[in-house]
Amino acid sequence: MSQEEKSVTLTCIRCPKGCQVTVTLAGGEVAAVTGNGCPRGDAYARKEVTDPTRVVTTVVPVRGSDVARMVSVKTAGDVPKAKVLDVVRALSDVSMAAPVHIGDVVLADVCGTGVDVIATKDV
Ligand code: SF4
Repeated sequence: MSQEEKSVTLTCIRCPKGCQVTVTLAGGEVAAVTGNGCPRGDAYARKEVTDPTRVVTTVVPVRGSDVARMVSVKTAGDVPKAKVLDVVRALSDVSMAAPVHIGDVVLADVCGTGVDVIATKDV
């Protein structure tokens, strides 16, 4: 391995098998992916090393409901991993007025990611 090469080993989280996938980087580019049991692991590892993202899930308070005080929410898509804490902080001041429906937008374009946070249950 040359000085410009480095390798990172990740546990693939795309299925319960949990393959140990090694990504070799050369000059900042992915040169090889090994250890993956299927193509999904290759795609996961490449993205995790070059552009890691996450779906954020949490709960926010509901006002005016006798049924529940909280409602589960999630980002409607992936957000950059580096913004996950910012998203959680942005939601710390948010509450919803009952009734809440699945898919209701809780917070639009959260942290400038272009992704909305939506409710995942009816309350
Ligand atoms: S590489 Fe494929 S088989 Fe292995 S954990 Fe990931 S999804 Fe599952």
